[in-house]
Amino acid sequence: MIYKDDQSSIQGFLEDTSNLKIGKTPGVFFPETVTEIAELLKGAIKEHRRFTIAGNGTGTTGGRIPLGDYVISMQKFDRIGQPIPYAIDKASMTVQSGALLDTVQKKAEQSGWFYPPDPTEKLCFIGSTIANNSSGARSFKYGATRKHISRILIVLPQGDVLNLSRGSCMADKNGSFRLNLPLAGEIAFQRAQYSMPETSKHNAGYFSEEGMDLIDLFIGSEGTLGIIAEADLMLIPLPKNVISSLVYFRDFDDLFRFNLLLKDRKHALLPRAIEFFDKNSLTFLAEKYAKVPAESEGAIFFEQETTVEREENDLDKLFEEMEACNAMIDQSWMALDGNDRAKLREFRHALPLLVNDWLSKQQESKISTDMAVPEGRFLELFDFYKSACEKLSFVYIIFGHIGNAHVHLNILPRNREEFLQAKSLYRKFIGKALALGGTLSAEHGIGKLKAEYLVEMYHESGIREMARIKKCLDPFLVLNIGNIIPAAYLETETQ
Ligand SMILES: Cc1cc2nc3c(=O)[nH]c(=O)nc-3n(C[C@H](O)[C@H](O)[C@H](O)COP(=O)(O)OP(=O)(O)OC[C@H]3O[C@@H](n4cnc5c(N)ncnc54)[C@H](O)[C@@H]3O)c2cc1C
Repeated sequence: MIYKDDQSSIQGFLEDTSNLKIGKTPGVFFPETVTEIAELLKGAIKEHRRFTIAGNGTGTTGGRIPLGDYVISMQKFDRIGQPIPYAIDKASMTVQSGALLDTVQKKAEQSGWFYPPDPTEKLCFIGSTIANNSSGARSFKYGATRKHISRILIVLPQGDVLNLSRGSCMADKNGSFRLNLPLAGEIAFQRAQYSMPETSKHNAGYFSEEGMDLIDLFIGSEGTLGIIAEADLMLIPLPKNVISSLVYFRDFDDLFRFNLLLKDRKHALLPRAIEFFDKNSLTFLAEKYAKVPAESEGAIFFEQETTVEREENDLDKLFEEMEACNAMIDQSWMALDGNDRAKLREFRHALPLLVNDWLSKQQESKISTDMAVPEGRFLELFDFYKSACEKLSFVYIIFGHIGNAHVHLNILPRNREEFLQAKSLYRKFIGKALALGGTLSAEHGIGKLKAEYLVEMYHESGIREMARIKKCLDPFLVLNIGNIIPAAYLETETQ
Protein backbone atom coordinates (compact mmCIF):
# COMPACT_ATOMS: atom_id res chain seq x y z
CA MET A 1 0.00 0.00 0.00
CA ILE A 2 1.26 3.48 -0.84
CA TYR A 3 2.12 5.66 2.16
CA LYS A 4 3.24 9.28 1.85
CA ASP A 5 4.61 11.56 4.51
CA ASP A 6 6.46 14.24 2.58
CA GLN A 7 5.03 17.71 3.09
CA SER A 8 4.11 18.33 -0.55
CA SER A 9 2.03 15.12 -0.72
CA ILE A 10 0.21 15.52 2.58
CA GLN A 11 -0.46 19.28 2.58
CA GLY A 12 -3.68 18.97 0.53
CA PHE A 13 -5.09 16.48 3.05
CA LEU A 14 -5.04 19.14 5.78
CA GLU A 15 -7.78 21.09 4.03
CA ASP A 16 -11.30 21.05 2.72
CA THR A 17 -13.53 24.00 1.82
CA SER A 18 -14.25 24.92 5.47
CA ASN A 19 -11.20 27.17 5.67
CA LEU A 20 -10.26 25.55 9.02
CA LYS A 21 -6.50 25.79 9.53
CA ILE A 22 -6.13 23.14 12.24
CA GLY A 23 -4.99 20.11 10.20
CA LYS A 24 -1.98 17.98 11.21
CA THR A 25 -1.00 14.48 10.18
CA PRO A 26 2.09 12.25 10.28
CA GLY A 27 1.17 10.73 6.89
CA VAL A 28 -1.42 9.46 4.41
CA PHE A 29 -2.23 5.82 3.49
CA PHE A 30 -3.73 4.97 0.09
CA PRO A 31 -5.29 1.49 0.46
CA GLU A 32 -6.37 -0.31 -2.71
CA THR A 33 -8.34 -3.23 -1.28
CA VAL A 34 -10.85 -3.78 1.50
CA THR A 35 -8.32 -6.10 3.16
CA GLU A 36 -5.77 -3.29 3.27
CA ILE A 37 -8.29 -0.95 4.95
CA ALA A 38 -9.19 -3.70 7.43
CA GLU A 39 -5.50 -4.37 8.19
CA LEU A 40 -4.88 -0.69 8.91
CA LEU A 41 -7.77 -0.59 11.36
CA LYS A 42 -6.87 -3.93 12.99
CA GLY A 43 -3.35 -2.67 13.63
CA ALA A 44 -4.48 0.69 15.04
CA ILE A 45 -4.25 -0.18 18.74
CA LYS A 46 -0.89 -1.94 18.49
CA GLU A 47 0.55 0.83 16.34
CA HIS A 48 -1.03 3.60 18.50
CA ARG A 49 -2.74 5.07 15.49
CA ARG A 50 -5.94 6.97 14.88
CA PHE A 51 -7.28 7.63 11.39
CA THR A 52 -9.22 10.32 9.58
CA ILE A 53 -10.88 9.32 6.30
CA ALA A 54 -10.33 11.56 3.29
CA GLY A 55 -12.67 11.89 0.34
CA ASN A 56 -11.96 14.58 -2.23
CA GLY A 57 -11.91 17.56 0.15
CA THR A 58 -15.01 19.45 -1.05
CA GLY A 59 -16.72 19.11 2.34
CA THR A 60 -17.54 22.40 4.05
CA THR A 61 -17.25 21.40 7.72
CA GLY A 62 -13.68 20.16 8.24
CA GLY A 63 -14.81 16.51 8.39
CA ARG A 64 -11.76 15.18 6.60
CA ILE A 65 -9.23 17.44 8.32
CA PRO A 66 -7.01 15.31 10.62
CA LEU A 67 -6.23 16.57 14.11
CA GLY A 68 -2.85 14.87 14.33
CA ASP A 69 -4.17 11.47 13.16
CA TYR A 70 -3.08 9.46 10.14
CA VAL A 71 -5.18 9.88 7.01
CA ILE A 72 -6.75 7.08 4.97
CA SER A 73 -7.39 8.39 1.46
CA MET A 74 -10.10 6.69 -0.61
CA GLN A 75 -8.54 7.88 -3.90
CA LYS A 76 -7.61 4.40 -5.13
CA PHE A 77 -11.14 3.02 -4.64
CA ASP A 78 -12.42 4.36 -7.94
CA ARG A 79 -14.02 1.45 -9.79
CA ILE A 80 -17.55 1.79 -11.16
CA GLY A 81 -19.65 -1.17 -12.31
CA GLN A 82 -22.22 -1.27 -15.12
CA PRO A 83 -25.88 -0.51 -14.32
CA ILE A 84 -27.73 -3.80 -13.87
CA PRO A 85 -31.50 -3.55 -14.51
CA TYR A 86 -33.71 -5.59 -12.16
CA ALA A 87 -37.10 -4.17 -13.16
CA ILE A 88 -38.38 -2.12 -16.10
CA ASP A 89 -37.77 1.10 -14.19
CA LYS A 90 -35.02 0.12 -11.76
CA ALA A 91 -31.34 -0.69 -11.96
CA SER A 92 -28.49 -1.12 -9.53
CA MET A 93 -24.90 0.01 -9.94
CA THR A 94 -22.01 -1.04 -7.72
CA VAL A 95 -19.42 1.66 -7.10
CA GLN A 96 -16.30 1.96 -5.01
CA SER A 97 -16.31 4.89 -2.65
CA GLY A 98 -13.52 6.94 -4.25
CA ALA A 99 -15.29 7.18 -7.62
CA LEU A 100 -16.13 10.77 -8.58
CA LEU A 101 -19.84 11.57 -8.38
CA ASP A 102 -19.67 13.23 -11.79
CA THR A 103 -18.20 10.10 -13.41
CA VAL A 104 -20.78 7.90 -11.66
CA GLN A 105 -23.66 10.06 -12.92
CA LYS A 106 -22.28 10.11 -16.47
CA LYS A 107 -21.75 6.35 -16.52
CA ALA A 108 -25.36 5.78 -15.43
CA GLU A 109 -26.61 8.22 -18.08
CA GLN A 110 -24.65 6.53 -20.88
CA SER A 111 -26.93 3.51 -20.53
CA GLY A 112 -30.13 5.49 -20.03
CA TRP A 113 -30.18 5.45 -16.21
CA PHE A 114 -30.25 8.23 -13.67
CA TYR A 115 -28.71 8.61 -10.21
CA PRO A 116 -30.75 11.47 -8.69
CA PRO A 117 -28.60 12.84 -5.78
CA ASP A 118 -26.79 15.92 -7.01
CA PRO A 119 -24.96 18.03 -4.44
CA THR A 120 -24.00 21.13 -6.41
CA GLU A 121 -20.31 20.25 -6.20
CA LYS A 122 -19.63 17.37 -8.60
CA LEU A 123 -16.00 16.77 -7.72
CA CYS A 124 -16.85 14.85 -4.55
CA PHE A 125 -16.38 11.10 -4.05
CA ILE A 126 -19.51 8.99 -4.06
CA GLY A 127 -18.51 7.35 -0.74
CA SER A 128 -18.29 10.74 0.95
CA THR A 129 -21.75 11.66 -0.30
CA ILE A 130 -23.03 8.49 1.40
CA ALA A 131 -21.04 9.13 4.59
CA ASN A 132 -22.51 12.65 4.59
CA ASN A 133 -25.96 11.82 3.24
CA SER A 134 -25.44 14.69 0.82
CA SER A 135 -28.34 16.30 -0.96
CA GLY A 136 -28.68 19.39 -3.14
CA ALA A 137 -31.13 20.93 -5.58
CA ARG A 138 -32.82 17.74 -6.83
CA SER A 139 -33.54 16.63 -3.28
CA PHE A 140 -36.80 18.56 -3.51
CA LYS A 141 -38.23 15.71 -5.58
CA TYR A 142 -35.86 12.85 -4.84
CA GLY A 143 -34.76 13.28 -1.22
CA ALA A 144 -31.19 12.97 0.08
CA THR A 145 -28.62 10.28 -0.76
CA ARG A 146 -29.85 7.72 1.80
CA LYS A 147 -33.00 7.05 -0.27
CA HIS A 148 -30.86 5.90 -3.18
CA ILE A 149 -28.53 3.43 -1.46
CA SER A 150 -29.48 -0.24 -1.24
CA ARG A 151 -26.23 -1.73 0.12
CA ILE A 152 -22.93 -0.64 1.62
CA LEU A 153 -19.76 -2.55 2.30
CA ILE A 154 -18.32 -0.94 5.39
CA VAL A 155 -15.13 -1.61 7.35
CA LEU A 156 -15.86 -1.13 11.05
CA PRO A 157 -13.33 0.53 13.39
CA GLN A 158 -11.97 -2.78 14.75
CA GLY A 159 -11.43 -4.15 11.23
CA ASP A 160 -14.62 -6.19 10.74
CA VAL A 161 -16.10 -5.99 7.24
CA LEU A 162 -19.87 -5.64 7.18
CA ASN A 163 -21.80 -6.22 3.96
CA LEU A 164 -25.07 -4.49 4.77
CA SER A 165 -28.09 -4.57 2.49
CA ARG A 166 -31.13 -2.41 3.13
CA GLY A 167 -33.69 -4.42 5.10
CA SER A 168 -31.21 -7.00 6.41
CA CYS A 169 -30.73 -5.56 9.92
CA MET A 170 -33.52 -3.62 11.56
CA ALA A 171 -33.84 -2.17 15.08
CA ASP A 172 -35.98 -4.36 17.34
CA LYS A 173 -39.02 -3.02 19.19
CA ASN A 174 -36.78 -1.52 21.90
CA GLY A 175 -34.74 0.25 19.24
CA SER A 176 -31.75 -2.09 19.72
CA PHE A 177 -29.32 -3.55 17.21
CA ARG A 178 -27.29 -6.71 17.82
CA LEU A 179 -24.24 -7.69 15.80
CA ASN A 180 -22.03 -10.74 16.10
CA LEU A 181 -18.72 -9.87 14.50
CA PRO A 182 -15.59 -12.01 14.01
CA LEU A 183 -13.24 -9.45 15.60
CA ALA A 184 -15.35 -7.17 17.77
CA GLY A 185 -17.49 -10.09 19.02
CA GLU A 186 -21.07 -9.53 20.17
CA ILE A 187 -22.11 -5.92 20.34
CA ALA A 188 -25.50 -4.44 21.12
CA PHE A 189 -26.58 -0.83 21.19
CA GLN A 190 -29.75 1.20 21.13
CA ARG A 191 -30.64 3.83 18.61
CA ALA A 192 -30.60 7.42 19.91
CA GLN A 193 -33.85 8.38 21.63
CA TYR A 194 -34.11 11.92 20.28
CA SER A 195 -36.57 12.60 17.51
CA MET A 196 -35.82 13.99 14.08
CA PRO A 197 -37.01 17.53 13.25
CA GLU A 198 -40.00 17.98 10.95
CA THR A 199 -37.92 19.51 8.18
CA SER A 200 -37.86 18.00 4.71
CA LYS A 201 -34.03 17.80 4.91
CA HIS A 202 -31.92 17.02 7.95
CA ASN A 203 -28.30 16.03 8.26
CA ALA A 204 -27.12 16.66 11.80
CA GLY A 205 -25.94 13.78 13.98
CA TYR A 206 -26.85 10.10 13.86
CA PHE A 207 -30.11 9.18 12.14
CA SER A 208 -32.72 7.69 14.43
CA GLU A 209 -36.33 6.58 14.03
CA GLU A 210 -38.56 3.76 15.22
CA GLY A 211 -37.89 0.45 13.46
CA MET A 212 -34.93 1.96 11.63
CA ASP A 213 -32.56 0.14 9.33
CA LEU A 214 -28.92 -0.22 10.45
CA ILE A 215 -27.75 1.02 7.03
CA ASP A 216 -29.33 4.40 7.87
CA LEU A 217 -27.19 4.71 10.99
CA PHE A 218 -24.03 4.47 8.89
CA ILE A 219 -25.34 6.74 6.10
CA GLY A 220 -24.79 10.29 7.33
CA SER A 221 -22.52 9.29 10.25
CA GLU A 222 -19.64 11.25 8.66
CA GLY A 223 -17.13 8.43 8.89
CA THR A 224 -17.34 8.16 12.68
CA LEU A 225 -18.69 4.57 12.66
CA GLY A 226 -16.81 2.96 9.77
CA ILE A 227 -15.21 3.36 6.37
CA ILE A 228 -17.59 2.88 3.43
CA ALA A 229 -15.63 0.95 0.80
CA GLU A 230 -18.35 0.11 -1.73
CA ALA A 231 -22.05 0.70 -2.32
CA ASP A 232 -24.95 -0.30 -4.53
CA LEU A 233 -26.75 2.73 -5.94
CA MET A 234 -30.43 2.61 -6.94
CA LEU A 235 -30.97 4.02 -10.42
CA ILE A 236 -34.14 5.10 -12.23
CA PRO A 237 -34.75 5.74 -15.94
CA LEU A 238 -33.10 8.93 -17.19
CA PRO A 239 -35.77 11.63 -17.61
CA LYS A 240 -36.30 12.23 -21.33
CA ASN A 241 -36.48 16.04 -21.29
CA VAL A 242 -35.91 18.70 -18.67
CA ILE A 243 -37.12 22.30 -18.70
CA SER A 244 -34.75 24.52 -16.71
CA SER A 245 -35.72 28.05 -15.95
CA LEU A 246 -34.61 31.15 -14.10
CA VAL A 247 -37.57 33.39 -13.33
CA TYR A 248 -37.12 36.94 -12.03
CA PHE A 249 -39.55 38.82 -9.77
CA ARG A 250 -39.88 42.50 -8.85
CA ASP A 251 -41.53 41.65 -5.59
CA PHE A 252 -40.54 39.07 -2.99
CA ASP A 253 -44.17 38.22 -2.10
CA ASP A 254 -44.84 37.29 -5.74
CA LEU A 255 -41.68 35.20 -5.80
CA PHE A 256 -42.68 33.36 -2.66
CA ARG A 257 -46.21 32.76 -4.00
CA PHE A 258 -44.64 31.21 -7.13
CA ASN A 259 -42.47 28.99 -4.93
CA LEU A 260 -45.57 27.75 -3.07
CA LEU A 261 -47.41 27.09 -6.32
CA LEU A 262 -44.52 25.01 -7.67
CA LYS A 263 -44.31 23.07 -4.43
CA ASP A 264 -47.99 22.24 -4.23
CA ARG A 265 -48.14 18.46 -4.55
CA LYS A 266 -51.65 18.76 -6.01
CA HIS A 267 -50.17 20.86 -8.80
CA ALA A 268 -50.06 19.21 -12.23
CA LEU A 269 -46.29 19.81 -12.35
CA LEU A 270 -43.75 18.76 -9.77
CA PRO A 271 -40.30 20.26 -10.34
CA ARG A 272 -37.30 18.25 -9.22
CA ALA A 273 -35.49 21.39 -8.04
CA ILE A 274 -36.65 24.78 -6.76
CA GLU A 275 -33.84 27.17 -5.90
CA PHE A 276 -33.67 30.79 -4.79
CA PHE A 277 -31.39 33.80 -5.40
CA ASP A 278 -31.91 36.97 -3.37
CA LYS A 279 -31.26 40.44 -4.76
CA ASN A 280 -27.71 40.51 -3.34
CA SER A 281 -26.88 37.19 -5.04
CA LEU A 282 -28.18 38.62 -8.32
CA THR A 283 -25.99 41.71 -7.84
CA PHE A 284 -22.95 39.41 -7.61
CA LEU A 285 -24.09 37.50 -10.70
CA ALA A 286 -24.70 40.73 -12.65
CA GLU A 287 -20.92 41.27 -12.66
CA LYS A 288 -20.65 38.36 -15.06
CA TYR A 289 -24.13 38.25 -16.60
CA ALA A 290 -25.21 41.62 -18.00
CA LYS A 291 -28.77 40.39 -18.60
CA VAL A 292 -29.61 40.10 -14.88
CA PRO A 293 -32.34 42.78 -14.50
CA ALA A 294 -31.37 45.46 -11.98
CA GLU A 295 -34.97 45.92 -10.83
CA SER A 296 -35.40 42.27 -9.79
CA GLU A 297 -35.86 41.53 -6.05
CA GLY A 298 -34.96 37.88 -6.48
CA ALA A 299 -35.21 34.86 -8.75
CA ILE A 300 -36.41 31.26 -8.70
CA PHE A 301 -34.52 28.61 -10.59
CA PHE A 302 -36.43 25.40 -11.23
CA GLU A 303 -36.05 22.17 -13.18
CA GLN A 304 -39.09 20.33 -14.49
CA GLU A 305 -38.78 16.85 -15.95
CA THR A 306 -40.98 16.31 -18.97
CA THR A 307 -41.32 14.33 -22.21
CA VAL A 308 -41.45 15.41 -25.85
CA GLU A 309 -45.22 14.77 -25.85
CA ARG A 310 -45.85 16.68 -22.62
CA GLU A 311 -43.41 19.57 -23.05
CA GLU A 312 -45.78 22.06 -24.71
CA ASN A 313 -48.51 21.52 -22.13
CA ASP A 314 -46.03 21.79 -19.28
CA LEU A 315 -44.66 25.04 -20.69
CA ASP A 316 -48.17 26.50 -21.04
CA LYS A 317 -48.91 25.60 -17.45
CA LEU A 318 -45.64 27.12 -16.23
CA PHE A 319 -46.23 30.38 -18.12
CA GLU A 320 -49.74 30.55 -16.62
CA GLU A 321 -48.27 30.24 -13.11
CA MET A 322 -45.59 32.84 -13.86
CA GLU A 323 -48.18 35.29 -15.13
CA ALA A 324 -50.40 34.68 -12.11
CA CYS A 325 -47.43 35.58 -9.89
CA ASN A 326 -46.38 38.68 -11.84
CA ALA A 327 -43.05 37.18 -12.90
CA MET A 328 -40.76 39.26 -15.15
CA ILE A 329 -41.44 36.85 -17.99
CA ASP A 330 -39.65 38.78 -20.73
CA GLN A 331 -36.39 38.94 -18.78
CA SER A 332 -36.58 35.35 -17.53
CA TRP A 333 -34.49 32.50 -18.94
CA MET A 334 -36.16 29.32 -20.19
CA ALA A 335 -33.60 26.64 -21.18
CA LEU A 336 -35.09 23.87 -23.29
CA ASP A 337 -32.08 22.17 -24.89
CA GLY A 338 -28.95 20.60 -23.42
CA ASN A 339 -26.73 23.48 -24.49
CA ASP A 340 -28.81 26.17 -22.88
CA ARG A 341 -29.37 24.04 -19.77
CA ALA A 342 -25.60 23.73 -19.37
CA LYS A 343 -25.28 27.55 -19.62
CA LEU A 344 -27.96 28.00 -16.99
CA ARG A 345 -26.23 25.48 -14.77
CA GLU A 346 -23.02 27.48 -15.21
CA PHE A 347 -24.92 30.59 -14.12
CA ARG A 348 -25.95 28.85 -10.89
CA HIS A 349 -22.38 27.69 -10.26
CA ALA A 350 -20.96 31.13 -10.88
CA LEU A 351 -22.34 32.46 -7.58
CA PRO A 352 -19.95 30.65 -5.18
CA LEU A 353 -17.06 31.44 -7.53
CA LEU A 354 -17.88 35.15 -7.62
CA VAL A 355 -18.30 35.18 -3.85
CA ASN A 356 -14.99 33.37 -3.33
CA ASP A 357 -13.33 35.85 -5.66
CA TRP A 358 -14.70 38.75 -3.61
CA LEU A 359 -13.65 37.06 -0.37
CA SER A 360 -10.12 36.48 -1.63
CA LYS A 361 -9.68 40.27 -1.58
CA GLN A 362 -10.74 40.44 2.09
CA GLN A 363 -8.91 39.28 5.18
CA GLU A 364 -11.80 37.36 6.77
CA SER A 365 -13.65 34.15 5.94
CA LYS A 366 -17.39 33.95 5.41
CA ILE A 367 -19.94 32.82 7.99
CA SER A 368 -22.50 30.54 6.36
CA THR A 369 -25.62 28.83 7.58
CA ASP A 370 -27.06 25.46 6.59
CA MET A 371 -30.18 25.48 8.75
CA ALA A 372 -33.63 24.41 7.51
CA VAL A 373 -37.02 24.79 9.17
CA PRO A 374 -40.42 23.14 8.68
CA GLU A 375 -42.16 24.53 5.60
CA GLY A 376 -44.63 26.79 7.43
CA ARG A 377 -41.86 28.57 9.38
CA PHE A 378 -39.59 29.48 6.46
CA LEU A 379 -40.51 33.16 6.18
CA GLU A 380 -39.85 33.72 9.89
CA LEU A 381 -36.29 32.47 9.55
CA PHE A 382 -35.78 34.30 6.27
CA ASP A 383 -36.94 37.64 7.76
CA PHE A 384 -34.79 37.04 10.84
CA TYR A 385 -31.68 36.51 8.68
CA LYS A 386 -32.41 39.52 6.53
CA SER A 387 -33.23 42.03 9.23
CA ALA A 388 -30.22 40.98 11.38
CA CYS A 389 -27.87 41.48 8.40
CA GLU A 390 -29.46 44.76 7.32
CA LYS A 391 -29.25 46.15 10.85
CA LEU A 392 -25.49 45.61 10.89
CA SER A 393 -25.05 46.73 7.26
CA PHE A 394 -23.34 43.45 6.39
CA VAL A 395 -22.44 42.32 2.89
CA TYR A 396 -24.48 39.11 2.61
CA ILE A 397 -26.29 36.84 0.20
CA ILE A 398 -29.17 34.40 0.68
CA PHE A 399 -29.60 31.61 -1.84
CA GLY A 400 -30.30 27.91 -2.16
CA HIS A 401 -32.89 25.24 -1.76
CA ILE A 402 -36.10 27.17 -1.08
CA GLY A 403 -38.10 24.11 -2.23
CA ASN A 404 -36.96 22.42 0.97
CA ALA A 405 -37.30 25.57 3.14
CA HIS A 406 -33.52 25.47 3.25
CA VAL A 407 -31.57 28.52 2.13
CA HIS A 408 -27.93 29.37 2.85
CA LEU A 409 -27.10 32.74 4.32
CA ASN A 410 -23.49 33.79 3.64
CA ILE A 411 -22.20 36.78 5.57
CA LEU A 412 -19.08 38.23 3.94
CA PRO A 413 -17.20 40.20 6.61
CA ARG A 414 -15.06 43.14 5.48
CA ASN A 415 -13.02 43.31 8.69
CA ARG A 416 -12.37 41.54 12.02
CA GLU A 417 -15.11 43.46 13.80
CA GLU A 418 -17.73 42.32 11.28
CA PHE A 419 -16.41 38.75 11.45
CA LEU A 420 -16.82 38.68 15.25
CA GLN A 421 -20.29 40.25 15.04
CA ALA A 422 -21.30 37.70 12.39
CA LYS A 423 -19.96 34.83 14.49
CA SER A 424 -21.99 35.82 17.51
CA LEU A 425 -25.02 36.32 15.29
CA TYR A 426 -24.53 32.77 13.98
CA ARG A 427 -25.39 31.40 17.44
CA LYS A 428 -28.60 33.48 17.43
CA PHE A 429 -29.50 32.08 14.00
CA ILE A 430 -29.12 28.56 15.36
CA GLY A 431 -31.31 29.41 18.35
CA LYS A 432 -33.97 30.85 16.05
CA ALA A 433 -33.92 27.92 13.60
CA LEU A 434 -34.18 25.40 16.46
CA ALA A 435 -36.96 27.39 18.15
CA LEU A 436 -38.87 27.15 14.85
CA GLY A 437 -38.52 23.35 14.93
CA GLY A 438 -35.61 23.30 12.49
CA THR A 439 -32.26 21.60 12.13
CA LEU A 440 -28.70 22.84 12.62
CA SER A 441 -27.68 21.23 9.33
CA ALA A 442 -29.92 20.30 6.44
CA GLU A 443 -27.19 18.98 4.14
CA HIS A 444 -23.54 19.86 4.81
CA GLY A 445 -23.31 17.90 8.05
CA ILE A 446 -21.53 18.76 11.28
CA GLY A 447 -17.88 17.75 10.86
CA LYS A 448 -15.55 19.57 13.20
CA LEU A 449 -16.77 23.07 12.40
CA LYS A 450 -20.23 22.66 13.89
CA ALA A 451 -19.67 19.95 16.55
CA GLU A 452 -19.71 22.52 19.36
CA TYR A 453 -23.21 23.67 18.35
CA LEU A 454 -24.89 20.27 18.11
CA VAL A 455 -25.60 20.21 21.86
CA GLU A 456 -28.05 23.07 21.27
CA MET A 457 -30.10 20.77 19.09
CA TYR A 458 -29.92 17.46 20.97
CA HIS A 459 -28.94 18.66 24.47
CA GLU A 460 -26.30 16.86 26.55
CA SER A 461 -28.44 13.71 26.66
CA GLY A 462 -28.57 13.39 22.86
CA ILE A 463 -24.83 13.89 22.46
CA ARG A 464 -24.20 11.26 25.14
CA GLU A 465 -26.45 8.82 23.27
CA MET A 466 -24.42 9.35 20.10
CA ALA A 467 -21.19 8.93 22.09
CA ARG A 468 -22.53 5.63 23.47
CA ILE A 469 -23.21 4.31 19.94
CA LYS A 470 -19.82 5.53 18.74
CA LYS A 471 -18.04 3.77 21.63
CA CYS A 472 -19.88 0.49 21.05
CA LEU A 473 -18.65 0.39 17.47
CA ASP A 474 -15.33 2.16 18.06
CA PRO A 475 -14.34 1.37 21.69
CA PHE A 476 -10.71 2.39 21.20
CA LEU A 477 -11.63 5.67 19.48
CA VAL A 478 -9.75 5.06 16.29
CA LEU A 479 -11.86 6.66 13.56
CA ASN A 480 -12.71 10.27 12.60
CA ILE A 481 -12.38 11.64 16.11
CA GLY A 482 -13.64 15.21 16.35
CA ASN A 483 -16.45 14.80 13.82
CA ILE A 484 -20.03 15.28 15.08
CA ILE A 485 -19.29 14.41 18.75
CA PRO A 486 -16.98 16.76 20.66
CA ALA A 487 -14.02 14.69 21.98
CA ALA A 488 -14.84 15.52 25.63
CA TYR A 489 -18.05 13.46 25.40
CA LEU A 490 -16.17 10.45 24.05
CA GLU A 491 -13.72 10.55 26.93
CA THR A 492 -16.41 10.61 29.62
CA GLU A 493 -19.16 8.42 28.13
CA THR A 494 -19.07 4.74 29.08
CA GLN A 495 -20.59 2.12 26.77
C1 LIG B 1 -19.39 24.79 -4.00
C2 LIG B 1 -19.90 23.66 -3.14
C3 LIG B 1 -21.25 23.34 -3.17
C4 LIG B 1 -21.74 22.29 -2.38
N1 LIG B 1 -23.07 22.01 -2.45
C5 LIG B 1 -23.57 21.00 -1.71
C6 LIG B 1 -24.97 20.69 -1.80
O1 LIG B 1 -25.73 21.31 -2.53
N2 LIG B 1 -25.42 19.66 -1.03
C7 LIG B 1 -24.60 18.95 -0.19
O2 LIG B 1 -25.07 18.04 0.48
N3 LIG B 1 -23.28 19.22 -0.10
C8 LIG B 1 -22.75 20.22 -0.83
N4 LIG B 1 -21.42 20.52 -0.75
C9 LIG B 1 -20.58 19.76 0.22
C10 LIG B 1 -19.78 18.57 -0.31
O3 LIG B 1 -19.64 18.56 -1.69
C11 LIG B 1 -20.32 17.25 0.19
O4 LIG B 1 -20.33 17.22 1.60
C12 LIG B 1 -19.54 16.01 -0.31
O5 LIG B 1 -20.21 14.86 0.12
C13 LIG B 1 -18.10 15.93 0.16
O6 LIG B 1 -17.38 14.97 -0.63
P1 LIG B 1 -15.80 14.84 -0.64
O7 LIG B 1 -15.41 13.62 -1.40
O8 LIG B 1 -15.17 16.09 -1.07
O9 LIG B 1 -15.53 14.54 0.91
P2 LIG B 1 -14.49 15.12 1.94
O10 LIG B 1 -14.67 16.58 2.13
O11 LIG B 1 -13.12 14.65 1.63
O12 LIG B 1 -14.98 14.36 3.25
C14 LIG B 1 -16.24 14.65 3.81
C15 LIG B 1 -16.49 13.73 5.02
O13 LIG B 1 -16.76 12.40 4.61
C16 LIG B 1 -15.91 11.47 5.31
N5 LIG B 1 -15.65 10.38 4.36
C17 LIG B 1 -15.11 10.50 3.12
N6 LIG B 1 -15.08 9.30 2.51
C18 LIG B 1 -15.59 8.40 3.40
C19 LIG B 1 -15.81 6.99 3.34
N7 LIG B 1 -15.51 6.29 2.25
N8 LIG B 1 -16.34 6.39 4.43
C20 LIG B 1 -16.68 7.12 5.53
N9 LIG B 1 -16.48 8.44 5.63
C21 LIG B 1 -15.95 9.09 4.58
C22 LIG B 1 -14.68 12.30 5.66
O14 LIG B 1 -13.97 11.76 6.76
C23 LIG B 1 -15.33 13.64 6.00
O15 LIG B 1 -15.84 13.60 7.30
C24 LIG B 1 -20.87 21.55 -1.52
C25 LIG B 1 -19.51 21.86 -1.50
C26 LIG B 1 -19.02 22.90 -2.29
C27 LIG B 1 -17.55 23.20 -2.25
